[in-house]
Amino acid sequence: MLNESVLVLNRSWIAIQVANAGRAITLLYQGYAKVVSPHDFSTYDFDNWKELSKTADDYYIQAVNFKIMIPEVIVLTAFNGIYRRDIKFSRRNIFERDKSTCQYCGEKFKKWELTLDHVVPRSLGGRSTWENLVLACVPCNVKKGSRLPDEAEMPLIRKPRKPRWIPYSGESFSSVRKQSWQRFVDAAYWDVELKD
Ligand SMILES: [Zn+2]
Repeated sequence: MLNESVLVLNRSWIAIQVANAGRAITLLYQGYAKVVSPHDFSTYDFDNWKELSKTADDYYIQAVNFKIMIPEVIVLTAFNGIYRRDIKFSRRNIFERDKSTCQYCGEKFKKWELTLDHVVPRSLGGRSTWENLVLACVPCNVKKGSRLPDEAEMPLIRKPRKPRWIPYSGESFSSVRKQSWQRFVDAAYWDVELKD
């Protein structure tokens, strides 16, 4: 039971790791985390969760004089110690910078209709950097192929560079009441630091 997997979210509700139940309950007990209900996203501190656990008939840990349910998801309440001023080079932030707009045709698209395009193609030594990755819709990406914008006669609508500031544009979390684990894992995908 102590080895059950628990998804851990940071203070921004981004999935950062999977912990075992023992670790998750320790964090909860110490006040460093709250349990997140995967159904309605309400949160519970240790005492509330202990109270709720009285009725549990499955997936709980029996302590000396109480039992506690194993949470599915917890959210950290303290700083994670990994706060950085630097803007993370991530998919999410490239989408923010380019405002979900294809940097070739200038049209706005839905997330899943956009790809990350290397301005200087990888085959020509182009790297994954703020200056060389832009959003492109699939037709533009295909049309450009492994050519330079000049060769393809597809000028960029603006020069890509590292943003100095990323405005917060996350949807209000409490308004999203869908399958939570998957959503949290998706968030981790979007937020992961890109490597060259
Ligand atoms: Zn396009």
